[in-house]
Amino acid sequence: MQIMVLGAGVVGVAAAWQLLKDGHEVTVIDRADGPATFTSFGNAGLVAPGHSYAWSSPVAPGMMFKSLLNRDQAIRFSPKFSVAQWRWIGKFMKQCNAESAALNTARKSQLCIYSQAMLNEVVAETGVKYDGLDGGLIYFYRTKAAFDAAVTRAQILRDNRLQIDVLDRDQTVAKDPGLAPAADQIVGSLLAPTDGSGDSNLFTIALARKCADAGCTFRYGEEIKNVRTKGNEVTSIVTSKGELSADAYVLCLGVYSPHLARQLNIDLPIYPVKGYSATLKISDPERAPQIGGVDEENLLAYCPMGDRLRLTATAEIAGYSTSFKPSDFSAMLSKAKALFDSAVDFDTPEYWAGLRPMTPTGLPIIDRSPFENLWINTGHGHMGWTMSNGAARILADLVAQKQPSVARDGMRYDA
Ligand SMILES: Cc1cc2nc3c(=O)[nH]c(=O)nc-3n(C[C@H](O)[C@H](O)[C@H](O)COP(=O)(O)OP(=O)(O)OC[C@H]3O[C@@H](n4cnc5c(N)ncnc54)[C@H](O)[C@@H]3O)c2cc1C
Repeated sequence: MQIMVLGAGVVGVAAAWQLLKDGHEVTVIDRADGPATFTSFGNAGLVAPGHSYAWSSPVAPGMMFKSLLNRDQAIRFSPKFSVAQWRWIGKFMKQCNAESAALNTARKSQLCIYSQAMLNEVVAETGVKYDGLDGGLIYFYRTKAAFDAAVTRAQILRDNRLQIDVLDRDQTVAKDPGLAPAADQIVGSLLAPTDGSGDSNLFTIALARKCADAGCTFRYGEEIKNVRTKGNEVTSIVTSKGELSADAYVLCLGVYSPHLARQLNIDLPIYPVKGYSATLKISDPERAPQIGGVDEENLLAYCPMGDRLRLTATAEIAGYSTSFKPSDFSAMLSKAKALFDSAVDFDTPEYWAGLRPMTPTGLPIIDRSPFENLWINTGHGHMGWTMSNGAARILADLVAQKQPSVARDGMRYDA
C-alpha cells in the first residue's frame, strides 16, 4: 500500500519505519527542513516507564489554581481567550480524580513498557546511534514526606510489572556517583532499573536515514494545508507544493494534529503544554551524572547525552508560542547548579522550548479515523519519545488488520 505519513517528528518517523518493515511504500511530509525539528528536538530524553504517572491527578487542579498567583508551580495555567484551551481544560479536570489517574497511569505504563521494548528492537535492527543509555533512571527526593508518598505511589507501577527499587541516600549515590556532590540534598530515591534515555532528535534523524535507505521518500519544506475527501475516504492532501495522494494517510502532526483534523470535523482533544530545556557541556565526565533522573520536588529532569547534560522543567498550559527568554531558565539553572556545578559548564547553555501534544488522559490516540484510510497516531504528550516506537508498531498492526500487542483502551478516537 502507498502510505503518506504526515509529520516527521519522532512519532511520524517511528511509524514510517514500522510501515516500511511491513512492506508498504511510504512517504513522509513535513514543513520543516528535516526530521525532529519541533517538539522531538529538545526534550528531556528520558525513556521512562518508571515515570508514567498521569498528569491529570487529584493534585493537578490545585497546582493550576495556585499557578495563577504564584508561577513557581509544576503545572502552570495561563488562561487565554481560546475555546480550544477551555474545552481541553474541562476535559483534563474531569480526569483529575484518583480513579481516572490510576487507570490512566496503568494504561500509560503498559504502553511505555511495550514501547521501550520496541525501541530496543529498532535499535538492534538498525544500529542507530542516539547517545542512548540503559542503566535505569533515578527519581530522587529531598524530604522524607515526599519520599514516603512516592514509595506508596510507586505501587501502581509495580502492579503493572515494572521494577521500582527504593534506595536510601547512600544507595542512590552508589548507583550514580554523579550525585555525590549533591548527596546532602537527597533523602532517598526510586530507581527504575530498566528505564533508559537518549536524544530523540539524534534517534529520529538516524532512523529517518534508515527509512530513506529502505526506500522511504521524505518531502521536507512542504506545508500540509488541506485534506480532500470523497464519501468516507481521504482522496488527497493539498500542500504548499501541490496535491498528493496515497492509499492511506497517518496523522502525526503533534500539537498541530487537531488543526488539520478539524477540517474533517474530527475533534482531537490535544492541547500544547509548553516546557523548557537547557543543554550544557559536561566539563568533568567523572563527576557528572552517569544516568538520567528527576529531582522530583523541583520537577527538574536531567539527562546525560554523550558530552552534554540536558535539563528540562515546567509544564505551561499557555497556547502555541514556543518563544523564550533567558530569564525563563533562571530557576532551572540555579537548581541544577546546586546539584552539578562541579561537572557542567553553566556558561554556555543552549536554550529551547517545546510543546507537548497533551491529551487530557496523557494517552495518545492511535486509531482509524472516521475516514476509512486516515489513521491517527498523535497526542503522546509528555512521553512521546518513550511511547513513539510502541505506538508506531500498534499503528502498523492496525493498518495490517492485526491485533496489536497492547490493549488500546483509552487510546481510541471517540467520535
Ligand atoms: C520540555 C519537554 C520535555 C520532554 N521530555 C520527554 C521525555 O523525557 N521523555 C519522553 O518520552 N517525552 C518527552 N517529551 C515529549 C516528547 O518530546 C513529545 O511527546 C514528542 O516529541 C512528540 O512527537 P511528535 O512527533 O508527535 O511531534 P513533533 O515532534 O512536534 O512532530 C510533529 C511534526 O509535524 C510537523 N508539522 C506540523 N504541522 C504541519 C503542517 N501543517 N505541515 C507540515 N508539517 C507539519 C512539524 O514540523 C513537526 O516536525 C518532552 C517534551 C517537552 C516539550
